[in-house]
Amino acid sequence: MKIKMPCLKCFTLDGIEEPALSYLELGESNIHEVICTRGHKTLVALTQHKHEVLFEIGAMALADGYPREAIATIAAALERFYELCIRVVSAGQEIPNDQLQAAWRLIDAASERQFGAFVLTMLLWSKESPIVIDNKKPNLPNTSKANTKTWKEFRNAVIHKGLIPPEHEAIEYCELVYTHINELTKKLTSQFEHEWLSQAQKQATEVRQANPEKEIVLFGLPTTLFLARGRQAPDSFRNALTQLNGYRQIYSR
Ligand SMILES: [Zn+2]
Repeated sequence: MKIKMPCLKCFTLDGIEEPALSYLELGESNIHEVICTRGHKTLVALTQHKHEVLFEIGAMALADGYPREAIATIAAALERFYELCIRVVSAGQEIPNDQLQAAWRLIDAASERQFGAFVLTMLLWSKESPIVIDNKKPNLPNTSKANTKTWKEFRNAVIHKGLIPPEHEAIEYCELVYTHINELTKKLTSQFEHEWLSQAQKQATEVRQANPEKEIVLFGLPTTLFLARGRQAPDSFRNALTQLNGYRQIYSR
């Protein structure tokens, strides 16, 4: 998935009122060198957390009619969100980075270990066992609770058994994840707003430190999860999808 981005230098350097579009392909790196059709080069750092990018790709998959792909990607987003919670709390507790890296290597290869680390990290920080959604069930129309899968059963059936869920069901499960991530984000940022932003800009900071001579432009995307933190936040995932349909032209193949 690519992002259409107007060239910032068309305007600031050349005063061209209709800036040329550049295309950034979302990937593992948040750092992109973009060259517009007029030849301006800009080093851009996206300020999105990994889980935010994954969640957006999942939401776009749903908007495009691929509910199975949406669930697989949004499940990955949730796992990366748990990792971010660990990193943000660790930064807030001033855990040295090399020590966090050493500990992370012990759990890196197993998502169940990471989940365990998340639960205990949140407990030690907030003194409360975190709410999780593994055993939660959505309200599905015309389906009894007994016949409704939990989030964990549903996610595993999609990822490991090739379940192709109907769109309306996928949306209900996405509601669980959307609410869960937004609630935890609110709780986390109420104490660790600075650490949260630092994590979002981590790659940009590293590039700046390694290349102090380079100009790097920070660019924040209006993703579904980013907008969920704003004043006009949609009150449900379904409404967030409607909102996404209003700005989805910023994305391209
Ligand atoms: Zn340009």
